[in-house]
Amino acid sequence: MSAVEVVQVHKAFGQVQALDGVDLSLGAGKLLAVLGPSGCGKTTLLRVLAGFEQIDAGRIALEGRAVSLPGVHLPPHRRHAAIVPQDGGLFPHLSVADNIAFGLGRRKLGRRGTRDRVAECLDLVGLTGLGSRMPHELSGGQQQRVAVARALAPRPPLVLLDEPFSALDATLRTEVRQVVRQALAEDGATALMVTHDQAEALSMADEIAVMRAGRILQAGRPAEIYRAPVDPWVAGFVGEAQLLPVLERDGQRVRTVLGWLGVTETPGPGQTQVMLRPEQVTIHPATDPGAPATVVSVDYYGHDALVILRAGDHTTVLSRVVDGPQAALQPGTRVTVAVLGRARCYADYSETGAEPVVGHPAGHDAPGTGDAGTSGSAQPQYH
Ligand code: ATP
Repeated sequence: MSAVEVVQVHKAFGQVQALDGVDLSLGAGKLLAVLGPSGCGKTTLLRVLAGFEQIDAGRIALEGRAVSLPGVHLPPHRRHAAIVPQDGGLFPHLSVADNIAFGLGRRKLGRRGTRDRVAECLDLVGLTGLGSRMPHELSGGQQQRVAVARALAPRPPLVLLDEPFSALDATLRTEVRQVVRQALAEDGATALMVTHDQAEALSMADEIAVMRAGRILQAGRPAEIYRAPVDPWVAGFVGEAQLLPVLERDGQRVRTVLGWLGVTETPGPGQTQVMLRPEQVTIHPATDPGAPATVVSVDYYGHDALVILRAGDHTTVLSRVVDGPQAALQPGTRVTVAVLGRARCYADYSETGAEPVVGHPAGHDAPGTGDAGTSGSAQPQYH
């Protein structure tokens, strides 16, 4: 039995179809990230799960119990789903411990039981001993951790996190994500988090559901979604994706501006392009075998860099390199590029509405690089 089951749920606001046949299933103790762009219906999904909105059609069940059907609507307080809002939403006049105890129902647990569960939840989020502080005496990250502790305290059937880290700065966000992920897992909580941040979804969730225009386009484990996106739009939304036109095909190999590439499956007649991730593209000295390319620019991120190259006449190619000599390549440097692993085939992006990262088909017929590129030489010389 799924802890959360959403079947063909529809919800419209006037002319806007916010949820357009959403199907979801989430196992107990798992964290699902609903990932999608602004306006795709993420918050609406969260609100229908919590019971703040009624659905027009479909069915929602929590722990096997139908909570939403057309004509049937269990109100929020009888669903017991806990919400962690963007800003934490702590009561400013209550101490940290009282904030956490708020949802517990002292009568049920008794004074000692309440105190123990509050202490347990503070431990879970790494804030042991801070129960007597007031919210304004905590950092933003600590406040968000208290909000998660408060949500977990009554052991709700479902924890709903609404872009919970969006107000935190980048460094704090990474730290708080890890703490929260661990706290949810240690407490065995079933959780659904909505976010438009692909790094957050990929790094935290057991499963991801990619949403667009009120529909779930793909659901699965993070690595599945990243490595085998169902279409170019999903590919581009969960990471950097470059699309290359197929110039020629031969079984499980296709020729592109980067030469002959291995593909994950024999392309069908309508599959006229392949997708590569920038980390599949490696850069080598111009004298090495591979497709000739010229460095256009380098976006430096510290831990790695994205090298933007031009291959053939016009085709932009992206290569992700670790910090090192390649991250300092100068515009105009001539190199060759090779491809690691296999590319995925897709129908023309214009039919899927996806926006390609790569520009025009190239006129240049680059030498084949095969489906497994060469590794970088020890001291490459770039020209
Ligand atoms: P964001 O990431 O920007 O918060 P979202 O993915 O959470 O966006 P929703 O807030 O669920 O998107 O909105 C989905 C669509 O439904 C949008 O077009 C929005 O304008 C519309 N919508 C949401 N709530 C209402 C409402 N109460 N009345 C009218 N339209 C609404």
